[in-house]
Amino acid sequence: MASISFWGGVGTVTGSKYLIQTDRARVLVDCGMFQGLKELRERNWQEPPFNPRAIDAVLITHAHIDHTGYLPRLVRQGFHGPVYCSRGTADLLKILLPDAGRLQEEDADYRNRHNVTKHAPALPLYTEKDADASLELIKSTTNIGERFQVAPGITASFRVSGHILGSSLVLVEIEGAGADRTGRHVSFSGDLGHYDQPIIQDPTPPPLCDYLLVESTYGDRLHDPEDPKIALARIINDAAKRNAPVLIPAFAVGRTQEILYLIRELEDENLIPVLPVIVDSPMAAAATTAYANRKEEHDEEYVSILRSQRHPLRTRSMVTASSKAESKRLNDAKGARIIISASGMMTGGRVLHHALRLVPDPETTIVFVGYQAAGTTGRRIQNGEPEVKILGQWIPVRCRIEKIGGFSAHADWQEILRWLEGLKENPPKRTFLTHGEPEAAEAMAGHIREKFGWTAEVPTYGEKFELL
Ligand SMILES: [Zn+2]
Repeated sequence: MASISFWGGVGTVTGSKYLIQTDRARVLVDCGMFQGLKELRERNWQEPPFNPRAIDAVLITHAHIDHTGYLPRLVRQGFHGPVYCSRGTADLLKILLPDAGRLQEEDADYRNRHNVTKHAPALPLYTEKDADASLELIKSTTNIGERFQVAPGITASFRVSGHILGSSLVLVEIEGAGADRTGRHVSFSGDLGHYDQPIIQDPTPPPLCDYLLVESTYGDRLHDPEDPKIALARIINDAAKRNAPVLIPAFAVGRTQEILYLIRELEDENLIPVLPVIVDSPMAAAATTAYANRKEEHDEEYVSILRSQRHPLRTRSMVTASSKAESKRLNDAKGARIIISASGMMTGGRVLHHALRLVPDPETTIVFVGYQAAGTTGRRIQNGEPEVKILGQWIPVRCRIEKIGGFSAHADWQEILRWLEGLKENPPKRTFLTHGEPEAAEAMAGHIREKFGWTAEVPTYGEKFELL
């Protein structure tokens, strides 16, 4: 007998946690942090609905915090088993988890200093040290389908899911789980990539399975048809003509590398002039190195550029600021230039120092290349608010504002259907829609029923299903 319980990534895109239980083992797939709405974030602080000490192993689909950010907390609560992930994911976790711990500590510290806490003293969810302890448990492997033992009676394999570096589909095989004592296969899409995304490979076709969990972030939306490369060229050319700066707030992992790749390509094709490109985020610099080093994950185009002796993630005039002093010096630069800095939604990080100077400047163009969540400074600027508060100061928003909607690391609903085509001849017994807001998940279930006639359902938080 085996079962699966949904402890996150249902009714929301955050907090992904799926628990597989058999008579002999307990395996958690993803260990994400809840983000966004307060009632979701509070779950990070509650007692977990399962005993962390009783979990045999954790399998990780990819490094994003909404899939991994609870791991240090789990370790703090006594989990000490292996954490399996792909090599690319392990590279990124070494960058992301200690940073998440540091942010938790800074946040608790801020609350204590400013007395804005109901709990005295405010404590971090976990510390950088907890994050380091969780990194010790990582066992990385390939994501080309090789099977490995996870726990008694449970094996797994990873395949490329094309979302970010290292992102993987996870196929779990449970020995003798069925009523007839045959094995059962449960497949997890993780976050499914957008086809033809630069740098990394397209999603691998889905492996055959009895039960399928598929994400539905864009279950009710299609991507903007405007090619982001063309939009980027238009904006850069316009700024170059006016000898004016371009500020791009971008997520350090994934989006920054994609932007660098496109700017390099535009330069190679002589579609834009060569401008100084300043990558001002230590995390982005580290992630760029990880992307460049993890050769087995690169797509064909990336490999062919490497063969022509060029660096695909390096523009012709590029500076990476690593120290704070360097960052400040770059702040004083003048003229046409492209500054890429995190955080992507302007909720923190060095982008704020650039914004303080450039947002009031009518010549500057600020370009949003990712989703801006409600309440963030990025969203306020994008919405055209006349003034925003940055680093404690109110500043007028006078810069030009552009938004490129075509960037996405997720498949939209048509691409998810395209991916699922691979299972048309041998459909899963049950398909569960995960990782979507309620409307998106329902819409995706509807698309699947309509196109394939499968049983597609949207689980609720804490719901448990027998894997018969
Ligand atoms: Zn993700």
